[in-house]
Amino acid sequence: MLKIPHFINGQPYDGRSPRYADGFDPARGEIISNVPLAGPDEVDLAVAAACAAFPAWSEMPPQRRARILFNFKGLLEKHQDELAAIITREHGKVLSEARGEVMRAIDMVAFACGVPQLLKGQYTEQVEDGVDNWSLREPLGVVVGITPFNLPMLAPCWMFPLALACGNTFVLKPSERTPSIAVRLGELLRDAGLPAGVLNVLHGDKLAVDALIAHDGVQAVSFVGSSPTAQYVHVQASARGKRVQALGGAKNHLVAMPDADLDLVADALLGAAYGTAGERGMAVSVAVAVGSAADPLVDRLAPRVRALKVGNGMDPATAMGPLVSAQHRGKVLGYIEDGVEAGATIVVDGRGLQVPGHEKGFFVGGTLFDHVRPTMNIYREEILGPVLCVLRVPDLKTAVALVNQHEYANGASCYTRDGATARAFARGVRTGMVGINVPIPAPAAWHSIGGRKQSLFGGFHLQGEEGLRFHTRYKSVMQRWPAPGAENAPR
Ligand code: NAD
Repeated sequence: MLKIPHFINGQPYDGRSPRYADGFDPARGEIISNVPLAGPDEVDLAVAAACAAFPAWSEMPPQRRARILFNFKGLLEKHQDELAAIITREHGKVLSEARGEVMRAIDMVAFACGVPQLLKGQYTEQVEDGVDNWSLREPLGVVVGITPFNLPMLAPCWMFPLALACGNTFVLKPSERTPSIAVRLGELLRDAGLPAGVLNVLHGDKLAVDALIAHDGVQAVSFVGSSPTAQYVHVQASARGKRVQALGGAKNHLVAMPDADLDLVADALLGAAYGTAGERGMAVSVAVAVGSAADPLVDRLAPRVRALKVGNGMDPATAMGPLVSAQHRGKVLGYIEDGVEAGATIVVDGRGLQVPGHEKGFFVGGTLFDHVRPTMNIYREEILGPVLCVLRVPDLKTAVALVNQHEYANGASCYTRDGATARAFARGVRTGMVGINVPIPAPAAWHSIGGRKQSLFGGFHLQGEEGLRFHTRYKSVMQRWPAPGAENAPR
């Protein structure tokens, strides 16, 4: 049985807490590891290591910090197959998706390598006689990152590369369901030349999160996960005067207009709704079919969903892997039951799927509901599984209103051939991210990521220039150097 260590002060650390969680291979439904769950003592240890490392790290010239991140980027590229395999083994997503996650994470590190350019501040000479004024951005101190199970590498990389590049030190609390990759990232950072204590990895659950948020040594908290926890973390950390960015759950809509190429839409939905078994914050879980698009869209979707090859993500022939845990599988199956009882039409039913040789795996087949109504739980709540709901509306205005009435407001996209329709959609929807003929509008590394309403708590988005603002404090300096004996000498 693999015993997963924490990673504190530049080395693996077994921990002292007697509490453990089981780590699973979700494709086989077998326990493969023990995950330590940190208590307050270990939280103290990790924060102390980050506090001790902060003075020297924050004083290091930014280009030297960036050089270490460049080395790290090179190591990530060299080890990308290994990293993808770690993700697939614990999460279940297919290897090609895990490779995609690794590539996107590398993009985040590449952005952080260029931060010296963004840290350089602004300067105005002679704002008054003999007075110059400039601005700069200073690091915060120790930043904590709390991440979800579904992006075990990318979500941490939305946070710590930028935090480190800006001169902060970091404690990462990854999901206890997909913990291994975080430790490997810590090792690769150490191999890249990162001083001990600058990045620490601490495994744990609510107990560790509560102790981290409450810790006096922590200046800021980044969170990605479900909305109730995001809101909780935001409230608790804000009450203690900490800076918080907390990304929550989602119910992303894709609006299909009658003029769209519906084969293209069906292909896009197949990837966006069923990729990573629907376990993505950016997954499309609602297709809004406008007017005459509805019947032909469902006709095109149904055979594609039925043909999805479900299996072990390690097998290159697999299109969709298992869900992360037996508990989550039970929750998704409960939603499917609920949708049937509420009167939605189940066009493709993923219940009862058996994968030969993997009878204990946490699989649910692709499921498609039609004639879903806005009052149904399967529409209102985040399922985070391979379940797509089709709603039928008469026109674009109703589609936009539907998107805007939802309590989640992460991403929304529209498929159309008409520029005016696309423009009206992009201007009309009140979500954080918008796609036009792009199903999953996850921004590039130098833009910022985040939604609105229940999908984001706090004033900052992750990554990009908003991420830079989050990880630094602004300072303005005014300076006068009067000549010796001059009349304007300061008194
Ligand atoms: P989760 O909220 O269960 O867990 C997230 C983190 O919080 C984990 O590290 C976990 O250990 C910790 N945690 C869990 N319960 C806690 C509690 N009661 N108190 C304190 N800490 C707690 O989320 P998850 O199931 O791991 O991840 C899936 C969720 O993340 C989905 O809702 C998904 O939409 C969301 N997500 C959103 C985005 C986005 O871009 N907005 C991206 C990825 C995932």
